[in-house]
Formats: sequence, structure tokens, C-alpha cells
Amino acid sequence: MTAQQIRQAFLDFFASKGHTIVPSAPIVVKNDPTLMFTNAGMNQFKDIFLGESAAKYPRVADTQRCLRVSGKHNDLEEVGIDTYHHTMFEMLGNWSFGDYFKQEAIAWSWELLTKVYGISADRLYVTVFEGDEKEQLPRDQEAYNYWKQHIAEDRILLGNKKDNFWEMGETGPCGPCSEIHYDGRSEEERARVDGKALVNADDPNVIEIWNNVFMQFNRLKDGSLQALPARHVDTGMGFERLVRVLQGKTSNYDTDVFQPLIQFIAEKSGKPYNAAATPGTEGWNEAVAMRVMADHIRAISFAIADGQLPSNNKAGYVIRRILRRAVRYAYQYLGFKEPFLNQLVPLLAEQFKGVFDELWSQKDFVQKVVSEEENAFLRNLELGLRRLDTYFDLSNEMGIATHLDEDVAEHIKIKREFNEDRKNRLVNGTFAFTLSDTFGFPLDLTELIAREKGFNVNVEQFEHELQQQKNRSRAATAIDTGDWVILQDDDSVEFTGYDETETVAHIIKYRKV
Ligand code: ATP
Ligand code: MG
Ligand code: MG
Ligand code: MG
Repeated sequence: MTAQQIRQAFLDFFASKGHTIVPSAPIVVKNDPTLMFTNAGMNQFKDIFLGESAAKYPRVADTQRCLRVSGKHNDLEEVGIDTYHHTMFEMLGNWSFGDYFKQEAIAWSWELLTKVYGISADRLYVTVFEGDEKEQLPRDQEAYNYWKQHIAEDRILLGNKKDNFWEMGETGPCGPCSEIHYDGRSEEERARVDGKALVNADDPNVIEIWNNVFMQFNRLKDGSLQALPARHVDTGMGFERLVRVLQGKTSNYDTDVFQPLIQFIAEKSGKPYNAAATPGTEGWNEAVAMRVMADHIRAISFAIADGQLPSNNKAGYVIRRILRRAVRYAYQYLGFKEPFLNQLVPLLAEQFKGVFDELWSQKDFVQKVVSEEENAFLRNLELGLRRLDTYFDLSNEMGIATHLDEDVAEHIKIKREFNEDRKNRLVNGTFAFTLSDTFGFPLDLTELIAREKGFNVNVEQFEHELQQQKNRSRAATAIDTGDWVILQDDDSVEFTGYDETETVAHIIKYRKV
């Protein structure tokens, strides 16, 4: 099955079970101070779970574009290194809002995976919440009993609160969850470990594919649990992981979701994609670079299409950091010295035509934004990388690097000034700050490059420099606008324009003195 067919089969299956298929919410979240990007299918239904708005339909299903690069879910560091965490991914989901519950949810997920998709039952494990006495959370015996009707008991594993109990926050809706894992190990390997069940462990071939959350409690302020009058089902399945399983691959990147992008990158760079390369062996850095680029362009493109331009703060800076990370990989390991990433946008838009048309309809705009960002950063990237090269070069001779003709002085300075730190394999925080301030190297990019060379970054010192700079610019602003004062919240200002008697301290915050 192609990825397209796999996605469609999911939606068709749940439509046949009475679900309304709804569109994905944008990946960019506006008007929620607790969340910058959609990180799960349930985000757009949060108010229904909180009881603050009514569900339009009792059963819905969709594919939701998600981003996990900040906050509670941040998978950025795994991307390109492991085979199954992405920045942007699709979460297939089905929901029941006070309608069906565990029995149907479990039966349908089993039916879909084993009958519709034909996954062999002896490749699947499920997990069920074991309970937590200290927190007075009951074991999910109900889910256990329903699973028993489908799968051998030695494949039902008990899991702890961390993995098998879901909470929206300190208070509010919560409940046990039940995950489905796929064992993609070779027969030999399975025989070697005696078919021993293995989930949430370090075997890259045993992966979690689907999570079924059963919301049945409301946690109150005093910590106690109250049964919810309306119980809900909230599920999420990683689309790219499912495609990998169904296409018989050992990496998400080997599926038709990523291969067109990776092959394009390989062709244009003139380097082959070596899927089997392992850390430290030939072709590893190039392979990671190709995976990172194929992954990051998806996150960047959808964020821009959904209204989040790269910028210097908040959500915009998250996107800019991802973009610069991809540009650095492209430049350093694949030799792309000119803007290239943007050329992936039309390919991607084509791929998502009919799925997420937002990208197709804005592909020219998105490409232009990416291209401009690349242009701006590439100019500085080279200069910054040269300084880092000098920094990492632990020989103490001055001016040994031959490519430094135009700024030899600067490089000699680096060697002298930071020699102690360099010897200790530490990137000086002031130096890292200069890279950020002058060349636009986000801190995490410097950290990544440093890590590759076996160096750490003095983050505390970096933060200190950043704070100093903020203080300086605040002071400068105060001088510039010296004839305005900021009123305290309790300072009242008489506003006499509309109503002689009204006092509106909160409307007018600034007053000319
Ligand atoms: P993992 O333990 O593998 O990090 P998770 O438990 O954090 O996954 P959930 O929050 O349960 O993931 O999300 C539901 C499903 O979404 C997962 O079962 C998985 O298939 C998929 N998923 C989660 N994170 C990612 C990611 N970064 N990239 C691709 N798919 C993901
Ligand atoms: Mg995770
Ligand atoms: Mg997990
Ligand atoms: Mg999970």
C-alpha cells in the first residue's frame, strides 16, 4: 500500500464505524498561552474535554499535522538520528465524545491493524495501566479484559503512570491509556531473546504506533479523582510509523513519505543516501543530514503555510532555529553552499495535494520565505563556521589555518582569549553569544556543532550575556523614549473624552509627561 492509500484506509475505516471525518487544525496555535504548536490530535478538541464547548459530532476521525519541537514534547534531538521521531508528523486519530468507550475502541483498533492492514498478531504488543496505589489510581482491568478477547495474555503488558496514564494538566480530565507497539525485529533476533516482549526500551525496531486514551476521570484541586459523567476516547497513531510497518521497512525514512525528498537531495548533492550507515562510519553524517533536511522542511513549510513566519522571537524563532539547523546540515555535510532547501517545497506540496491543500495553494509564497531565510543565513553561516573551526582546533600555533586570510586577527584572538576553555573542551559562553549575535547562530545550533566535536557549551555564561544585552537594550529604549513614562497598574488616569466620570487605568498605560 502507498502512504496515500494507508491514510485513506484509516479514514474510510472510521467513517464506516460512524465517524465524521474532520479537517486537521493548523499546526500553529493562536490564542493559547500554554501551547505554541499543535502536538497531538486532541488539541483542537480540548474545550470539549474540558466541558467548555459541546461536541458537534459524537464520533470524529482525522489526520492531524503535529509538531514536537518545544515544551512538553520536544523530539528535535532524536530527528535524523533515530528512525521514528520527526519534528512534523501526522497523527491519525479517532474520537468518541461521550459516545463509545473502551470496548469499541479496542476492538476497532485491533480490527483495523490486523484485518484491514493485515499486520500479523504475533508482531503486536499492547500495554495497559497497572494502577498506582500511592496516587490512588486504579488498574485498568476493563481494558485488560477487552484486550484478552483479541490477543494472547502474554502480549498484554502492564505499564506505569508515566507511560500509561494521561493527564491534561494538574487538574482536569485524565484517564488510563493503552498503547500498541510493533515488534519489527528480525526472526533471528526474536529467537535469540526468546520472543521476549519489549516495549519502551532501547530496541529501535520495537516501536510504539498507537495510543488509545480513555478519559474517565476529572482530577480536582485537592488531588482526588471524580468519575466523569461523559467518558471520552482520544486516540493517536503515528502515520509515518504505520507506513513504515506496512511497507516492511526498518526506518520511517525508507518509506514513500520521505524517499522522494531524500532521493531529490541525494541527486542534487551528488552523494548517495546510505540508509544503513551507522554512527561513526562512512556516510553517517551525510545520511543524517539528508534525513534532517527531509524532516525539517516539512515542519518549516507547514508552519509557514499555517501563518507562522520565521522571526526572532517565540514561535517564529522556533521555526527559524529549525530552518537554520537544516541549512547547516545541508552546507556542512552535503556541500550546498547556495540556498537549496526551498527547492523541496514544490515536491512536498505536490505530495500533500488533496491531503493538506493549505500547502499547495501557498507553495510559491512558502518557497520564497524559505529561500530568503536561507539566503540571509548562508552569508553568516560560513563566517561563523570558520570561527568555530578555529575554536575547535586545539593546536596552539597562531594563524595556522590557511583559509583565514581576511580575518586572521580575529582568529588569533579566539585562540588566545579562549585557550583555557578550549583545552577543557568547553565553548566559552561569551564566544557562543557572539556567534549568535553577529552570525545568527542559535544557541542549540552551536551546541549541536560543538557536540559533534566533543565540546560542551557554557550555557550559563551564554544566558548571562544574553541577559546583559537585554538590559542594555532596555536602557537604550528608556533613553530614546525618555519623554514617556510607563504607568503602574494602579496609577489612574482620567480619561475625559467619552464620559467625564470614567477612570480607565487599564486602557491608557502610557501618558506623556
Ligand atoms: P514515543 O514514546 O515514541 O516518543 P509518545 O508516547 O510520545 O511516543 P504519544 O504522545 O502517545 O507519543 O502520541 C501518539 C502517537 O504519535 C505515538 O504512538 C506515535 O506513533 C506518534 N508519535 C509521537 N511522537 C512522534 C514523533 N516525534 N514523530 C512521529 N510520530 C510520533
Ligand atoms: Mg514521545
Ligand atoms: Mg511513548
Ligand atoms: Mg504514547
